[in-house]
Amino acid sequence: MTRNWYPIIDYEKCTGCLTCLNFCTHQVYEVGPNGKPVVARPENCVELCCGCQKICPSNAITYHGEHS
Ligand code: SF4
Ligand code: SF4
Repeated sequence: MTRNWYPIIDYEKCTGCLTCLNFCTHQVYEVGPNGKPVVARPENCVELCCGCQKICPSNAITYHGEHS
């Protein structure tokens, strides 16, 4: 929907559990080469949705646009 809001994964915290990928219904994430999710389609992310951040067990997700 907008490129002004999309998730950013902290790979130091991310364990690759893929909870975020399985949760999001907008195909924002894909599995990357290292088995961890990558933000493949940031334009699909719904502005101000924080769904994946809330369910990430490692607190690894923040959002571009959060502070603007
Ligand atoms: S839910 Fe969190 S820890 Fe799990 S894959 Fe996504 S970002 Fe990584
Ligand atoms: S914030 Fe919402 S729409 Fe965006 S990736 Fe996470 S669950 Fe999907």
